[in-house]
Amino acid sequence: MNIVLLGPPGAGKGTQAERMVEAYGVPQISTGDIFRANLKAGTPLGLEARKYMDAGDLVPDELVERIVFDRLGEPDASSGFILDGFPRSIHQAEALDSHLKRESGPLDLVVNIDVDPEILVGRLTGRRMCKDCAGITHVLSEPKAAQGVCGECGGELYQRKDDNEETVRNRLEVYKAETEPLIDYYRPSGKMATIDGSVSPDEVFEEVKAAMDSAGVSK
Ligand code: AMP
Repeated sequence: MNIVLLGPPGAGKGTQAERMVEAYGVPQISTGDIFRANLKAGTPLGLEARKYMDAGDLVPDELVERIVFDRLGEPDASSGFILDGFPRSIHQAEALDSHLKRESGPLDLVVNIDVDPEILVGRLTGRRMCKDCAGITHVLSEPKAAQGVCGECGGELYQRKDDNEETVRNRLEVYKAETEPLIDYYRPSGKMATIDGSVSPDEVFEEVKAAMDSAGVSK
């Protein structure tokens, strides 16, 4: 099962990907997570990516593509993958198509999570991540989150460096200019399901499962 999760920053791609991993048993490949892990480890890749991430800009296509295609070659991705945050430009989508044509089967499903941009600003600036369980929460939905404590495991929360309002607004503009055109790119394939991402994560996941069923993707 080869799946792409499409949608603006803050649409809930990461949250849905986590649930899909659990329900369908294929790996989530999040380019943002790969860059953040490299940044934390201080690798040359992480240091290069940081220049773009801190401003909310896209890391150059060639660099991202190389990383994703290497990752897709790892054994756990041989029976499928959920791409979260890739592709983010037409160049990346075309490179992915060529790669899949050479190396494995085509995409089975593109899940496009649609959310109003004004909702996204509030979601992203109030978003907090847990240092211990890597969970994602929000200061308005979880009472303990406003005190910096994870409601799931009691761990310490932090805010992603690119979740401040100025960077968030730039990320949304970059999404509109570079990534939103992918909706028209994928539409003719007939493999794209657009889902309303403004409702609760549980409700969104019901729609994701329905889209997986319609696409014939089984557990
Ligand atoms: P994310 O966690 O998906 O919001 O990604 C965080 C940041 O990583 C983005 O704002 C970009 O700077 C970078 N990034 C992640 N995925 C990509 C991609 N496919 N192409 C270019 N840059 C990316």
